[in-house]
Amino acid sequence: MISGKLTVWVGPMFADKTTHLLETYWKQKLVTNTLLIKPKKDNRYDERKVVTHSGLEAEADCVLGDGDNVFDICLSAGGGTDIFVDEPQFIPGIGHVIKLWLMSGYNVYVSGLDLWSNGEPVPEMLSLLAYADEVYKLKAKCKCGQPASKTQKLRSTGTIQNVDKGDLYAPACNDCWEPLV
Ligand SMILES: [Zn+2]
Repeated sequence: MISGKLTVWVGPMFADKTTHLLETYWKQKLVTNTLLIKPKKDNRYDERKVVTHSGLEAEADCVLGDGDNVFDICLSAGGGTDIFVDEPQFIPGIGHVIKLWLMSGYNVYVSGLDLWSNGEPVPEMLSLLAYADEVYKLKAKCKCGQPASKTQKLRSTGTIQNVDKGDLYAPACNDCWEPLV
């Protein structure tokens, strides 16, 4: 049975998802034990820190790479811990582990992409959206001025997962967006 609460912020790049995660993280850090997790793959600004495009940052407790045993993180999480996960799309298998955390009574907060730049759903996010108690679908601003719910890739790289500081992707509205890998 799931007794923990799951809160999810999703949306395209540049929609301030990580900002919402960190604001809640700092608030909860004052009242309970917290665990902040980021993927090793997201080293855009720092290897260990969770950093937003606007410069907010917090030191991650765990940095997970491909093939790491994310179950080990469960063991290191103390009682009453609120767990925060940034960019779960870069942590294969994290969806299943988050379900186990929820079943163990941990509250989990997640911010990440819901759609890749080709318009396909991010697999790790599908079950998280279904399990979530609260979902905030955030929007960025398209170059045309409309609210943007898609991520536009500006040039093809041939691979779906790329980390980028700002010159490979842009937010796009449904009218302007074109799927690209
Ligand atoms: Zn547009």
